[in-house]
Amino acid sequence: MSHPTSQSAPVHAAFATDLTKVYGTGETRVVALDAVTVGFAKGEFTAIMGPSGSGKSTLMHCLAGLDSVSFGSARIGDTELSSLNDRRLTRLRRDRIGFVFQAFNLLPTLTALENITLPMDIAGRKPDKAWLEQIIGTVDLADRLSHRPAQLSGGQQQRVAVARALAGRPDIVFADEPTGNLDSRSGSEILAFLRDSVQELGQTVVMVTHDPLAASYADRVVFLADGRIVDELLTPTADAVLDRMGRLTSGLHV
Ligand code: ADP
Ligand code: MG
Repeated sequence: MSHPTSQSAPVHAAFATDLTKVYGTGETRVVALDAVTVGFAKGEFTAIMGPSGSGKSTLMHCLAGLDSVSFGSARIGDTELSSLNDRRLTRLRRDRIGFVFQAFNLLPTLTALENITLPMDIAGRKPDKAWLEQIIGTVDLADRLSHRPAQLSGGQQQRVAVARALAGRPDIVFADEPTGNLDSRSGSEILAFLRDSVQELGQTVVMVTHDPLAASYADRVVFLADGRIVDELLTPTADAVLDRMGRLTSGLHV
């Protein structure tokens, strides 16, 4: 079988080609993404930045199969998402993608451990015990596993959410402003865990953030404006990100 579009598949956990997303019609028509082509290499930590409304969440949702694509393609590995029916798409999301949201999205009646293993329990998959222990150790939750979310701080709840995202060893983790609801100390813990999951556990992470310091934990920053990729920065420092953002913002006012 030949895969004419899969040349980059072995090195990319996710790839968007001319990805276009249009919401609404007529007067309410919004082009949220305008022919975006971008790849996320395996084992890489990428931050996505850009003004509010620039399409960051839409890009993530289209690549994660949470939203449909209007034109162009979104792939996870060499799987073209538009080729999947609802059932297979749900399964792909469950088995191959991890999510971390700004709101922690934990189930209040379950313990921390039950929340972490929930996606696998639903899938009827047995967690890899050694991996699970490693994840729980990495996010430093070993003595909180029987607590319910209400008994945990915001930072601890988000650590549970990160552990849940990583537990199934996904091909890629998408995190949408994961530190948006956290104080700076809890935030830097989460960022360090995401960093470690890439560096030490070989995971692939794509994170939306508006915080230059958060972006500096990444290997690469991709800048969006008006639904287009307008810039990119490798091995970013917070200062370099701030400088680049300043230039983009001033560019918008010229
Ligand atoms: P960001 O995450 O960068 O703030 P979004 O991806 O959420 O931006 O949104 C990009 C654009 O698409 C915005 O103009 C937003 O209003 C629009 N948009 C996002 N989701 C929807 C939707 N479900 N229906 C209509 N418009 C939407
Ligand atoms: Mg958003």
